[in-house]
Amino acid sequence: MKRIITRQEKFKEKEVNLHEALFSNANGYIGVRGNVEEGVPEGWNTMRGTYINGVYEIIPMKQAESLCNLIEKKQTMLNVADTQTIRLIADGDRFDLTTGKVIANERVLDMEQGVTRRHVIWASPDGKEIELSVTRMTSLLIPSLFTIEYNVKALNFDGEIEIESYHIADVKNYSNPDDPRLGDDSGALLNVEVVKWREDMSVAVSETNVSGITVASAVSHRLRLPGKAEIGYGKEEGRTLYHVKAEVKQGEELSLIKYSTFSDSVREDDPEDFARKTLKEAMRGSLSDIYEKQKEYVTEFFDNSEMEIDGDDELGQAVNFNMYQLFQSATRDKHCSIAAKGLSGEGYEGHYFWDTEMYVAPFFILTSPELAKNILEYRYGILDKARENAALLGHKKGALYPWRTITGEECSGYFPSGTAAYHINGAIAYTILQYYLTTGDLDFMLDRGEEILLETARLWFDVGNYDREGRFVINEVTGPDEYTCMTDNNYYTNCCAAYNMSMAVSFAEEHSSNKRVKELLDKLGVTAKELKEIKAAAEKMYLPYDEELGINPQDDSFLQKPVWDLKNTPKEEFPLLLHYHPLHLYRYQVCKQADTVLSYFLFEDRQPKEVMKKSFEYYEKITTHDSSLSTCVFSIVASRLGMHKKAVEYFGDSIKLDLMNTHNNSGDGVHTANMGGSYMAIVNGFAGLRITKEGISVDPFLPTGWKKYSFKIKYRNSLLKFTVTKSGAVCEVLRGEKIEVKGVKEMRYEK
Ligand code: BGC
Repeated sequence: MKRIITRQEKFKEKEVNLHEALFSNANGYIGVRGNVEEGVPEGWNTMRGTYINGVYEIIPMKQAESLCNLIEKKQTMLNVADTQTIRLIADGDRFDLTTGKVIANERVLDMEQGVTRRHVIWASPDGKEIELSVTRMTSLLIPSLFTIEYNVKALNFDGEIEIESYHIADVKNYSNPDDPRLGDDSGALLNVEVVKWREDMSVAVSETNVSGITVASAVSHRLRLPGKAEIGYGKEEGRTLYHVKAEVKQGEELSLIKYSTFSDSVREDDPEDFARKTLKEAMRGSLSDIYEKQKEYVTEFFDNSEMEIDGDDELGQAVNFNMYQLFQSATRDKHCSIAAKGLSGEGYEGHYFWDTEMYVAPFFILTSPELAKNILEYRYGILDKARENAALLGHKKGALYPWRTITGEECSGYFPSGTAAYHINGAIAYTILQYYLTTGDLDFMLDRGEEILLETARLWFDVGNYDREGRFVINEVTGPDEYTCMTDNNYYTNCCAAYNMSMAVSFAEEHSSNKRVKELLDKLGVTAKELKEIKAAAEKMYLPYDEELGINPQDDSFLQKPVWDLKNTPKEEFPLLLHYHPLHLYRYQVCKQADTVLSYFLFEDRQPKEVMKKSFEYYEKITTHDSSLSTCVFSIVASRLGMHKKAVEYFGDSIKLDLMNTHNNSGDGVHTANMGGSYMAIVNGFAGLRITKEGISVDPFLPTGWKKYSFKIKYRNSLLKFTVTKSGAVCEVLRGEKIEVKGVKEMRYEK
């Protein structure tokens, strides 16, 4: 059973925000937080939100000193109309879980059906008992559609049930000026242009001031009643109200289906018209048909990506939960990508970071390559902006992808741990190559992939230089570890750059007779001389190594700094970023997240095992894992280095990060990078999957306490199922061509 269930005897403020994220509904286009329809008491911490992927407003980001070419505005994901709000009055008593008695209160994420459910039995202060069952869905087939099925039963009384269902256009984004990971107060970002009833359909249209985006939503209801009801259509400032008053007898149920559709001018010429039309179409059939199709859709997704852990059911559920959340976040078009929090909250303002390529895309490359391709198409779509960004930073050639963005312009206000993280180029290039190696999609490489590889390679060549010893060095950049900024020769960055440069050239060389490659080189003005120079720089890339310690220092100055006393740092002072000035942190050997260690996963051939092992142990002692992107990587590398016990421990920290809220901020949105990372910890770590030019291989082990585990991946044209037991891995080719996998004890082919 793929279900996540929580039961609460009380309705607690502490859990509200977290459950809003964990029980959010999304389909890659829209995301609706799992807010309770009736709302929460004034003053409780809640983030009430509905988002459209890639829909944003531009807001000022004033720099205190207007130094040359600093970024002074950013995009922020919009909270669009609230169509969730429904208020219920049971025979005169307003349904409110903080009053009366909560007899049952359960929330379910049903991953088999692709819906969330809420079941409540509540007694009002004067003893009227009602049963409420709510099912919510963001449709995977009709991406603009969100539905709420709201059923109310009178358990012990005859009387009146009243429902007020709102469509609220005047909404605001959430803000928390005390947390740099959230937006600060930006006020209302949408101007409500239209709020109206058109027959029994409520329509709202709003516009942003600066980005010029229009968003539209349409809402309509279907009611099933035991008897008669009074129905009213109201309108207030910025909102409409649908009002039902019905007489019910004990045991009778009233059922309201609320359909909402959303649309935006990024994708549609006439969003209002589109929202109305899709709503009408969606309501033409029955909701149960849409449920049925939703189920088929998620079944297919799980069929192709199924991962099972025999011996630990809870872990199995957590794995499914993570995969499902990733699936919900995945962009279905090229207008957008996958944000750090997916569509489950406003943390990091809906921005796309390197997280998407380095942590999330690998899951899709292996399970749903068409979704992985959307991520790469999006990057191609903003390549021109990346070229402009490079020019803004003074580069003569090449493209530099922004550290965080929605539309392609840099949105990072603090450049030392933003724009300076040039390694985002490396993540994109690496992922393009992994996509290509896994799918063999040569067309994509010729049409788009190689162009990105060449432009990012040019950037590396432009930012680096030869030092007096003839080594190619890259100075003043920030690696993944944000507790160390603006350093020279970040080991990880230099590895990424070398790989990016050498692969861009080798692809051009291998396909030099292909007309499309020739055309591309002409279009970009890449000469044979330039290719040669880039290749030479990659070969001469300097990678820091410390003879005495036998490790790779994170950068040139890292080992000169004192080691932070982690043992004596009080627990309350983590994450350090919320308690120490960044400059203070930069002066210590203390890491927020895996940096050099990550490069051992991606570029394992660059160092002997002994060096990687010593480095791993070194960084382990000074890493706080304050970033959710860290423990999964330590797990993968521990697996690869044969430290199985450690690998399992780090995996344990990563796999339930959101479900257990171990970073205490899952309420702002789930951590998609960690979710992808914990998937890799099993597939690339425990099973040791590697996909290289030479083909596909595994090097598996079975964690203690597990009986076996299995997972499915797509490789080229085949669907493969790996099952790992104590005695090794069996690979079944479930579909497609016969292929060979190195490192398995047995290959099985369908007859
Ligand atoms: C991490 C970055 C990451 C960002 C968004 C930060 O805390 O240090 O590596 O890209 O979160 O998830």
